[in-house]
Amino acid sequence: MRPFALETANDRSAALRFGRDTGGAEAHITAPTQYLAGGTQLFDLMKLDVMQPRTLVNINGLEREFGAIEAAADGLRLGALARMSEAADHPVIRRDYPVISDALWQAASPQLRNMASLAGNVLQRTRCNYFRDRKWAGCNKRNPGSGCAAIEGVNRRLAVLGVSRHCIANYPGDFANALVALGAEVMIVNPDGDTRTMPFEDLHRLPDDTPHIETNLVPGDLITGFTVPSGPWTRRSLYLKIRDRTSYDFALASAAVALDLGPDGTVRTARIGIGGMVAKPWRSREAEDALAGRVLDEASAADAAEAAFAGAVTHSQTDFKPELGRRTLVRALLDAGRMEIDDV
Ligand code: SF4
Repeated sequence: MRPFALETANDRSAALRFGRDTGGAEAHITAPTQYLAGGTQLFDLMKLDVMQPRTLVNINGLEREFGAIEAAADGLRLGALARMSEAADHPVIRRDYPVISDALWQAASPQLRNMASLAGNVLQRTRCNYFRDRKWAGCNKRNPGSGCAAIEGVNRRLAVLGVSRHCIANYPGDFANALVALGAEVMIVNPDGDTRTMPFEDLHRLPDDTPHIETNLVPGDLITGFTVPSGPWTRRSLYLKIRDRTSYDFALASAAVALDLGPDGTVRTARIGIGGMVAKPWRSREAEDALAGRVLDEASAADAAEAAFAGAVTHSQTDFKPELGRRTLVRALLDAGRMEIDDV
């Protein structure tokens, strides 16, 4: 690992002062100064020499300001520095937003969930082997303009939705798929202290011809939290994750679903996120539209799944993924339809 300076910020203004050292970086993730919360992925990528910050700013002292989880009638507010395990185990989240709790519980290991912050979790980077191993020169995400070794190489775990001819990397997270399905927003403060909110769906970017720019954050931006609006669909919600190893693994396929059903099983509202094979957290409005106004059953769920993967693009080892994704979504929808929802 390369040498780096470790600074500590105990309040917002101190953190943002360090955040001004953007070094002219084009992307948030390549800025020479990086915020440190749980560090569970940052240190991993620094050891691999994929990330090379010169300064880390420990922001864990800001937990009092940005670490709370608050539930109100109009929705949920999740502090950026709340730990994954805190949110996974929060009684209101478990009862009223089970898709969030499910997604967090199925992510990583208990030790990682106790360390990792919610904001760090949504910013996790692809597990593409060629990205993580600097011996491979051809990786447009790590080394812009160098090509993409994965397109002709090992790509079984990579994406089929949202890919480009410059990058087929997969977004590996789970929690973000629940946030995107529920229409969450992300709160951000920039180094000048200006705050802004953006739809969570807009936080991550598609690879297109700039896969090295992964988010719409600018260097020095600090995520302060997330808001999740309440709605009649949040309680009938779940996250289904399919992986090679159930104990601890990244998804091959996943579905985050939230449903508001009428008394006869008609879908009033469906919110659907797809994971495990997508270039960024992926909301499938095509699947939502295919279900709207129909009785939820095998046929309507299958039509929704067909719509969700109509735009899939496969490569040498990913031909199996659209079918796996369709089956995952059908099962998630039917399981959500069978959930018993208690009155509060
Ligand atoms: Fe790099 Fe993306 Fe290609 Fe993987 S898929 S080698 S991350 S450019």
